[in-house]
Amino acid sequence: MTTSPDAPHLANPDLYPSFTKGVFLGEIREDLLFPFPALDAGERESLNMIVDSFRAWAAENVDSKQMDHDGKFPDAVRQGMGELGLMGLNIPEAYGGYGASSRVFSRMFGEIGATDPALCVYFGAHQSIGCKGITLFGTEDQKQRWLPGCAAGTTVAAFCLTEPGSGSDAQAMTTSAVPSADGSHYLLTGTKIWISNAGYAGVYTVFAKVPVTQADGTVKHKVTAFIVDAHAPGITLGQPEQKMGIKASDTRTVTFDNVRVPVQDRLGQVGQGFKFALEILNSGRLGLAAGSARGARKIMHDALVYAKQREQFGRPIGSFEIIQQKIAINAAETYAADSAWMLTAGLVDRGGIDYSLETAACKIFASELAFRASNDALQIAGGIGYSKEFPYEQAVRDSRINLIFEGTNEILRALIALMALQQSGERLKALGKAFKDPLHSLGAIGSFVAGRAKRSVSKPSFTMVHPALDEEAESVATMIHDLAGGVEALLLKHGKAVIERQFLQARLANAAIDIFLAVAVLSRTTWEIERAGSVEAAEPELDCARVFIPAAMRRARRNVRALRVNQDKRLSAIAERALESGVLAPETPSDR
Ligand SMILES: Cc1cc2nc3c(=O)[nH]c(=O)nc-3n(C[C@H](O)[C@H](O)[C@H](O)COP(=O)(O)OP(=O)(O)OC[C@H]3O[C@@H](n4cnc5c(N)ncnc54)[C@H](O)[C@@H]3O)c2cc1C
Repeated sequence: MTTSPDAPHLANPDLYPSFTKGVFLGEIREDLLFPFPALDAGERESLNMIVDSFRAWAAENVDSKQMDHDGKFPDAVRQGMGELGLMGLNIPEAYGGYGASSRVFSRMFGEIGATDPALCVYFGAHQSIGCKGITLFGTEDQKQRWLPGCAAGTTVAAFCLTEPGSGSDAQAMTTSAVPSADGSHYLLTGTKIWISNAGYAGVYTVFAKVPVTQADGTVKHKVTAFIVDAHAPGITLGQPEQKMGIKASDTRTVTFDNVRVPVQDRLGQVGQGFKFALEILNSGRLGLAAGSARGARKIMHDALVYAKQREQFGRPIGSFEIIQQKIAINAAETYAADSAWMLTAGLVDRGGIDYSLETAACKIFASELAFRASNDALQIAGGIGYSKEFPYEQAVRDSRINLIFEGTNEILRALIALMALQQSGERLKALGKAFKDPLHSLGAIGSFVAGRAKRSVSKPSFTMVHPALDEEAESVATMIHDLAGGVEALLLKHGKAVIERQFLQARLANAAIDIFLAVAVLSRTTWEIERAGSVEAAEPELDCARVFIPAAMRRARRNVRALRVNQDKRLSAIAERALESGVLAPETPSDR
């Protein structure tokens, strides 16, 4: 198995090209997404072996319903994950792990997610985020000390970022790490909440603010990452949270009271912590996307079996078109979600590419798909869908979390829009520094607009898409052209106020997500046709592509048009009235 060197895991938005940022400029960077990054034969064989051994073990050992009921995993399940080698799947071989590529790791993430989402959180909180910082940014000494235990599963890792007062706004954290006078250690104090794996963790990656005295005597508090031994004195755990879903996953508050952290356990330099957190979450999101896509496939599979066997009005319910509609749309969207996470994992494996917006797009699309698919599957199952005897209600509960953690989908939408606008600014120089920090310092958008106002953007095109998809490719290229024009017009109209205009940001992000997913489908389906040897042989894939792309482009068109024509003022008025009065909607006449 190839070990991806550390550097290619870094999205490095300041340095590397990004497909989605290019889209906002009206560009199609085909070289980034074509050809589709399928696994080579050797990797496929290794992956199949891992999948098969996991499936055989899980069939014997993982009782998802029981774990949901008990609110915890049997010890044998956690132990088994270690024995299978899964806890070290993406830890480099040099430290006892398997060194899986991002594509292999994401595929296994998906397999575990489809088997049991809570177990997947155990796996992901450990490796995708818990010890990922050590893998990416640790010194040789830190890697040697911590990673072998993590790889064996004997040391479980957890990621401590969220606090009572700082969730989405992670920079607002108050946990502090005060250096000792002799510089030998830090004293860590603060409370982290919602920490997955907290109950059995042996090591935490903790983010805290270090006070640094500036030349002028003022003190700045800089976010810094630490590797913390979970057994250090001064650490206390709260009770397990009682949750809606993923109940077996252990989630707790972790309190640090003057915990002594040796200076050699600081990760990177003082002040690098926030960048590290973003980078860890960037790659972590991809696993969530694969887990969600696979979860959608699994629960719809159960619904398919039921729809074939359950008869009403003298026929299987699967023969009714309203039921078929749910099956077909979920199939096309699962095809798209799979195409997108795999393509993005390919970008991670390739290195030298900024994939931060693509992982966000994959996570948003797949998490919302998994929740919709679980709901549709439950609906197909009718009354039994609502029963605890069957898997549907648990799937609805379990899939819901993916829209919330590792960046809520609202925050990720704002991130996509603002990061992409930042790229426009950088590219067009006129915006200079203003776009460098889009959340806080927008100033020069007006000059960008003045310079570009009358410029017509030349229309891009695809050259690497199979001719069978010409029509779809043309519609995506047109959409990219229109989005770039929409961005320009939007900046002309709103100037720097765009920072506060989340109605607009959400539309930009939604259009960009649909465009990225559509291009992923073009890339994958081109590859599928070539692999199958003919267009006819790839009919199942082409059907999915020809359903997904037009629907995605219709949504994108609506979003771009609504940048200009919308009800935003009215929406704001309604929301503000409701927030002010505490009454959602005008009372019904019967209540007056
Ligand atoms: C089961 C579970 C496991 C978790 N595991 C971990 C873990 O292992 N480690 C860890 O550090 N954290 C973990 N978390 C925390 C999780 O990442 C946070 O809950 C999440 O980041 C949101 O933060 P919050 O709950 O404070 O919501 P808030 O930030 O208060 O957000 C509330 C709502 O407001 C929206 N919102 C906030 N700001 C904006 C804005 N600027 N624009 C528009 N909308 C906005 C949000 O999208 C959300 O809908 C976990 C949470 C849960 C529920």
